Amino acid sequence: MSRLVVVGNGMVGHRLVAAMRDRDTAGDWEITVLGEETRRAYDRVALSSYVDGRSEEELRLDDDELRGDPLVTYHLGDAVATVDRDARRVATASGRTLTYDALVLATGSYPFVPPVPGKDLPGCFVYRTLDDLDAIKAAAAAAADDPGRRGRPSAIVVGGGLLGLEAARAMRLLGLSPQVVEIAPRLMPVQVDAGGGALLERLVTAQGIAVRTGVSLAAVSTDRGRLVGTLSDGVELDADLVVFSAGIRASDQLARDCGLPVGERGGVWVDDRCRTRDDAVWAIGECAALEGRTYGLVAPGYAMAEVVADRLLGGEARMTPEELDMSTQLKLLGVDVASFGDAHAVTEGALEIVVNDPVEGTYSKLVVSDDASTLLGGVLVGDASRYGALRPLVGSRLPDDPVTLISKGGAEPDASALPDSAQICSCNAVTKGTLCAAIADGAHTVPELKACTRAGTTCGSCVPALARILAQQGVEVSKALCDHFDHSRAELFEIVAGARITSFSALISRYGRGSGCDICKPVVGSILATLYNEHVLDGERATLQDTNDHFLANMQRNGTYSVVPRIAGGEVTPEGLIVIGEVARDYGLYTKITGGQRIDMFGARVEDLPAIWRRLVDAGFESGHAYGKSLRTVKSCVGTTWCRYGVQDSVGLAVELELRYRGLRSPHKLKSGVSGCARECAEARSKDFGVIATEHGWNLYVGGNGGFTPRHAELLVSDVDTATLVRTIDRFLMFYVRTAERLQRTAPWIEAMEGGLDHLRAVIVDDSLGICGELDAAMARHVDSYADEWAGVLADPQKLERFVSFVNAPDTPDPTVRFVEERGQNVPAPGRPDEPVLIGLPEVSSR
Ligand SMILES: Cc1cc2nc3c(=O)[nH]c(=O)nc-3n(C[C@H](O)[C@H](O)[C@H](O)COP(=O)(O)OP(=O)(O)OC[C@H]3O[C@@H](n4cnc5c(N)ncnc54)[C@H](O)[C@@H]3O)c2cc1C
Ligand code: SF4
Repeated sequence: MSRLVVVGNGMVGHRLVAAMRDRDTAGDWEITVLGEETRRAYDRVALSSYVDGRSEEELRLDDDELRGDPLVTYHLGDAVATVDRDARRVATASGRTLTYDALVLATGSYPFVPPVPGKDLPGCFVYRTLDDLDAIKAAAAAAADDPGRRGRPSAIVVGGGLLGLEAARAMRLLGLSPQVVEIAPRLMPVQVDAGGGALLERLVTAQGIAVRTGVSLAAVSTDRGRLVGTLSDGVELDADLVVFSAGIRASDQLARDCGLPVGERGGVWVDDRCRTRDDAVWAIGECAALEGRTYGLVAPGYAMAEVVADRLLGGEARMTPEELDMSTQLKLLGVDVASFGDAHAVTEGALEIVVNDPVEGTYSKLVVSDDASTLLGGVLVGDASRYGALRPLVGSRLPDDPVTLISKGGAEPDASALPDSAQICSCNAVTKGTLCAAIADGAHTVPELKACTRAGTTCGSCVPALARILAQQGVEVSKALCDHFDHSRAELFEIVAGARITSFSALISRYGRGSGCDICKPVVGSILATLYNEHVLDGERATLQDTNDHFLANMQRNGTYSVVPRIAGGEVTPEGLIVIGEVARDYGLYTKITGGQRIDMFGARVEDLPAIWRRLVDAGFESGHAYGKSLRTVKSCVGTTWCRYGVQDSVGLAVELELRYRGLRSPHKLKSGVSGCARECAEARSKDFGVIATEHGWNLYVGGNGGFTPRHAELLVSDVDTATLVRTIDRFLMFYVRTAERLQRTAPWIEAMEGGLDHLRAVIVDDSLGICGELDAAMARHVDSYADEWAGVLADPQKLERFVSFVNAPDTPDPTVRFVEERGQNVPAPGRPDEPVLIGLPEVSSR
């Protein structure tokens, strides 16, 4: 077996290990990874989302399968200090030595800090790793908590490039006032031209980020406990933090020390196989200088990792700098910027076509060949929604007049015009040809295409293009809900609403076949509940509900139920808390505060549910719908009520929204949050619809979620007043409920929508389909007809009959339910090894 040593456990080192384990089916290589950082590999491209609520786990790149792979060993927190090429041996800082047959340097880059006096003072940081961000967060929190301070804490961000703007946005999210200092005459000088730069500066400034271009930081000093940044023009800026984000340098010291050649501007020199001048040593990612040139993006690094994996396994892969895609899209809140191909029109004879609309706040430029037939590159500022469609066209004949391709309302580029070699996913270098081959091999949905080609799994900008290519390849994705209906959920919704069908049996007899199943029954039950808002356990509807809706509570692993009363906006009185405490104590329920700011009581026996609800309902509580595919909670921070940073009443709005949308049955659960300022303590951007207060009103974000595939919500409308906000959410929810597929949360619903967020905005803000009146009326009906489901059961003796463990012995409690005490509360007793696992519900009659 051969030994591969990988130095660096960053994004590219990780990709190499994953590619080796995918391809080395014979198990010929034993891999050891040596990483300087103590953490498991994480998504550095998404680093900034760490200050925006994403956790280290959510950013993690490796999975348990790779971690448990017997052919892969990790030594983290132990940097390689020396390489002895003659002995083919590396030694680490801790004294560990390892020999290799192949050595791959994947050491990335380090941030460049200009050599200004004071650069190492406490309060000065770089922006590259999770550790850097932890340190920045701690410093920002300390500055905010300083009792002697007046006004908002501030930060100087040195560098107005891609990373500098990301860092500035992160400072904003941390509650600091950022001031960006950029030596070039415009922001993002590498990617954006003068026209785009001017608009970009306007848009960035509107985000509360001050910008100073054409000046540099000359020195950092301290004055009465604060930092002072002196600029090259003599201006002095006070700050609590200074963040250097002024570029990167390849981490090539190891190579230099062991005598390997480096590129003219740094980076380990490698040939088109990514091999250094030593046959046993390779370099990939940001530390490598491919034929002398380094690349500061992840896509070239991933391509290098794939080439080396192929070579180590006997392949002949090679790469040329021309193949590398240097397109970039900035992930800055509310500011769309993208640059691709020859953005600066350096190709001889290149023509520039510019559409500049200062009123709309958009700047679009296409660079085309001298005969205007071939797209060479472009810059999009203010609206980059066409980036995903335009970027793959680089190098191809233009399918349309270039002006129409960037004009408002102009033609959408057609994917069918692309050659097979066109790169659709630049992060993972996936071409249209590869995607078409995968489709031919049976990948017939966007998730399947993502899984088998990796396209769309890094920055995600190409996902709409994947859907278009599927359609263009003639893939008819079956929308049939199940064997009993040929219609999708959205189509059934329209049928039920249009034909005013009020029962499952009427629907299936006219539009389906058979007697229904576990898929179609709950879906139709939910549609009927949305449209008519009658009790879900009324008559035949009771037979349609799934496990939890059956008992209006969540079934737990030991067959008991959890009870969650609604605590709108997380606001609860002391009297309410006392009642909850008394109920939990009297029924021996385990209590826990949930992530949605309410109290969950676990361990209720099915026959105790009505009595528990009775006490809660009498105290003014109602069902929190924790069991339903419906609105769960609207989480809130304390906003202007208590917080000195708050700019709006976030609790008041959260309570209003939660009471408005409670009980709305939907294709999946719905979560929401309201934050009283941009500090975002309610984590509203991880919700299906999240609201963040601004000085002028509210910003509404949609399509966020946690869970398996976390996603940040995107800005739908900004600075709107409360009435406009509520109307927009009404329409958003009703449009979602009406058109989403079964179990489709808002994020994939928007992703799958032709035109995505822009289309959604057109429909519910501009009423492009002329349905807003219907959506408004539907929500008004819902709000008017809401009634508490628990109270509905308590008032109906027939419904109460369902709440027994055994239909044939209603007074007998389930004897298998046992508890033990843990930390002062009841928890399920561990099962005996021979004890059967509870998998079903007790038999209940349907009427
Ligand atoms: C905030 C931010 C935003 C970004 N956004 C984008 C983007 O939108 N698009 C894009 O394409 N790229 C983006 N990038 C760049 C992208 O993250 C990098 O291109 C990518 O991480 C490079 O991967 P790498 O493995 O070469 O280097 P890294 O991910 O930096 O990993 C190198 C690893 O090697 C370790 N190491 C160094 N020396 C040693 C040693 N002697 N021994 C052991 N380990 C060592 C380092 O500690 C590090 O963990 C962004 C970067 C940042 C910081
Ligand atoms: S207003 Fe809300 S989001 Fe802003 S700092 Fe206060 S608690 Fe946090």
